[in-house]
Amino acid sequence: MKEAIQPKYFQAKVVCNCGNEFVTGSTKEDIHVEICSKCHSFYTGQQKAAAARGAIEKFNRKYGMNK
Ligand SMILES: [Zn+2]
Repeated sequence: MKEAIQPKYFQAKVVCNCGNEFVTGSTKEDIHVEICSKCHSFYTGQQKAAAARGAIEKFNRKYGMNK
């Protein structure tokens, strides 16, 4: 895609709440987002970690190791 064909199509700088910046094609020059692909995977990892903690607590309760 050439800019001459789409003059209102910018290389937009996207700034995320997590501090990550990246460039994407957009009709806006500057974009601010609350979540990006980078911190989305971070949050997914957090959820997995929380699930793992829950499994350990369940194990401890089952075998009475939490007293
Ligand atoms: Zn982000």
